Amino acid sequence: MSGFVLWFTGLSGAGKTTIANNVEPELERRGFVVDHLDGDIVRTHLSKGLGFSKEDRDTNIARIGWVASRLARAGAVVIVSAISPYEELRRHARSLVEQHSPFVEIFVATPLEECARRDPKGLYAAAFAGEIEEFTGVSAPYEEPLEPELRLETTGRTPSESAVTVLDRLEELNLVPRAEFDA
Ligand code: ADP
Repeated sequence: MSGFVLWFTGLSGAGKTTIANNVEPELERRGFVVDHLDGDIVRTHLSKGLGFSKEDRDTNIARIGWVASRLARAGAVVIVSAISPYEELRRHARSLVEQHSPFVEIFVATPLEECARRDPKGLYAAAFAGEIEEFTGVSAPYEEPLEPELRLETTGRTPSESAVTVLDRLEELNLVPRAEFDA
């Protein structure tokens, strides 16, 4: 089976990591070698020391895109979960990956108000209090994907329901074989 990149983009707290964590074991169960490049983790290793200026964010996403393209080319399914707020950098990552492998962009379209209500890391409270500069959706832009392969609405749906929607879309794109119980 050949590799591909599954790229989750959306606001902080949208549910990218949580949904990706639900998709990952299901892809492994179907026989794929899966690697998950999560934004928060990448920033403690590959992108350690980078901040949240436009320039640093762009560097971070360019690095993730490059690593993802290499791993997918070697046959892995690469799940990326990163805010990746800028269309241009997402397009850049896509073009690198698509030289060898499919790229599937998933827009986790949770509205700002819902992300701020969930506020799993307490970041929105701090951002609204003016304590965090360049916080996406509050004091820095988020450019919505124009033509994602999938737009996920998460409000009123559990993360595992969202994961099923992702897998259905991957089946539709012929990237993942249909689950046995579907047959
Ligand atoms: P992100 O990776 O986009 O920053 P996380 O997955 O880290 O977001 O955090 C999303 C938070 O929202 C988690 O604490 C998750 O449990 C919670 N949550 C509540 N409802 C949902 C939902 N319907 N879909 C996804 N996450 C949800």
